[in-house]
Amino acid sequence: MLYTKVVEAYEKIEATTKRLEMTDLLTQLFKQTPKDEIDRLVYLTQGKVHPDYMGIELGLAEKLVIRVLAQATGLSEDEVTALWKKKGDLGLVAQDAIAARRQKPLESKPLTLAKVYENLDEIARSGGAGSQERKITLLADLLAFATPVEAKYIVRTVVGKMRLGVADMTIVDALAATFATKQDRAAVERAYNVSSDLGEVARLLASEGLAGLKKVGLKLYRPIRAMLCERMETLEEILKRLGKCALEYKYDGLRVQAHIGPKGIKLFSRHLEEITDQFPDLVDGLKGAFRRGAGIVEGEAVPVDPNTGEFLPFQTVSRRRGRKYDVEVMMKEYPVSLFLFDCLLEEDEDLTGRPYVERRARLHKALKENERVRFATYRDTDDVKEAEAFFDTALQIGGEGLVAKALNSTYEAGARGYQWIKFKRDYAAAMSDTVDLVVVGAFAGRGKRAGTYGALLMAAYDKDDDVFRTVCKLGSGFDDATLEALPKRLAPHRRDRKPARVDSKLEPDVWFEPAVVLEVLGAEITLSPVHTAGQDLVRPGAGFAIRFPRFTGKWREDKGPEDATTVQEIREMYDRQKKVAKP
Ligand code: ATP
Repeated sequence: MLYTKVVEAYEKIEATTKRLEMTDLLTQLFKQTPKDEIDRLVYLTQGKVHPDYMGIELGLAEKLVIRVLAQATGLSEDEVTALWKKKGDLGLVAQDAIAARRQKPLESKPLTLAKVYENLDEIARSGGAGSQERKITLLADLLAFATPVEAKYIVRTVVGKMRLGVADMTIVDALAATFATKQDRAAVERAYNVSSDLGEVARLLASEGLAGLKKVGLKLYRPIRAMLCERMETLEEILKRLGKCALEYKYDGLRVQAHIGPKGIKLFSRHLEEITDQFPDLVDGLKGAFRRGAGIVEGEAVPVDPNTGEFLPFQTVSRRRGRKYDVEVMMKEYPVSLFLFDCLLEEDEDLTGRPYVERRARLHKALKENERVRFATYRDTDDVKEAEAFFDTALQIGGEGLVAKALNSTYEAGARGYQWIKFKRDYAAAMSDTVDLVVVGAFAGRGKRAGTYGALLMAAYDKDDDVFRTVCKLGSGFDDATLEALPKRLAPHRRDRKPARVDSKLEPDVWFEPAVVLEVLGAEITLSPVHTAGQDLVRPGAGFAIRFPRFTGKWREDKGPEDATTVQEIREMYDRQKKVAKP
């Protein structure tokens, strides 16, 4: 397949913000793709060469790409850098520079999808001595024959910023429409939720049709997408809905999926990234605790104060990224404990289809607790008074609340449903639950904040239309150090104009591609003519806004923009708040 066919479709996809239109364009593209190339096309459309959990990532340093662009076009590196500063997108720079290139290639050989993938894959895999030169050669090899538009997408892919705006679930829709019918979407989504690998799903669908997806099962060292919770306002309602159920402490940390087997232990985040290197203490703890040959268990990693034994704020775990030295220092200063609450695989047996109580019993038999690895505290009950008292103790130990689980519930990968219901502190009060919002813009600071940002423009995710709609300007809750670091921290996502998937009536000083998610606590949800989330839903011309928003200090690094609080959830919170307000 010619790469030019692919980028023709990408151009149309980039130009639309409508999810249905994107799905149709993708479907048309998939239909024209040879079966044995579909997986590669899917990865490239996601802006990658492999599923995340493999850790084989592109993301070439921009400096290196500038050097290659200079070589390929005859411009100087300074000229390319100047263009980049002006446009803010190396892909666009590549497009223009290739169009105006001073030295045209002597012969032109059209690029194929296979060739582009092969070179990008090798770039991603190259490491060690001499790898830099190798990467340069591989990229130069592609750019030598690329058309301007092809160059734009090749460069965007290598620097790890595709900007197509295609969410994974849009690819799921398109795969269902291409290889089955829209009604079969659930089967395709399930396969994705279990395998975390859209390329593999595409490959199986293309070669064996829907029947092929039945083969997708749980596999050691390949993370499964996490089961999530719904929320409810009162314990009474929860118990009414679930009857006798298990209440577990809701720990406030980082969700960890541990794969333990003959090839050692691998830890994955809720984001499906491998995080083993960040938690050598947990790896050791699990080694000592696990009594079987193989298994997959899930829990929440919580930092513990070694002096008091109390839980510490969640941020102390998220700071464990980066260099080995930091991890070692952090490990001593803020050791973590993993509170396990599920067992998905034991030896060769997939337990996800088994009821919760059985999985819990298997979990408790498969491990012996130690300081680093514990079981989540639980209580099975249908008594509201008992539940309330249990909730109080959960808060006392530093938990966030409770998660109620239906005793007979199976593990539904990637699903957010009422089999698991979370109940957090002060739910019944107006808006005491936090929301996770996406940074889409910033306003320059004045006075004391000159030189940094005065406020961030925050958005909720509109799942139906796959866009981000604004709900507030966020200016409080930042300490001085965070404030100072904000421009740098957000710089990689900076854009010169409004990103396609952002819907805003306000015009901030800088725009950001939806990427960074912050936890925000507000006083109340109000209607406002300024914000676009839920526009016209309650009153014509008005959307939902969060009043008195405050940053809680928690960067939700474990969440992608599509995992942020949705407009639909804000609407539910608004409706609930009104119910509470009425006597
Ligand atoms: P929140 O922002 O409220 O933590 P979330 O959007 O991150 O929620 P939810 O599905 O709403 O995710 O809440 C479930 C999260 O709570 C899980 O992903 C997990 O990280 C954490 N958690 C803590 N304790 C438990 C537990 N006992 N059982 C399940 N999840 C738990």
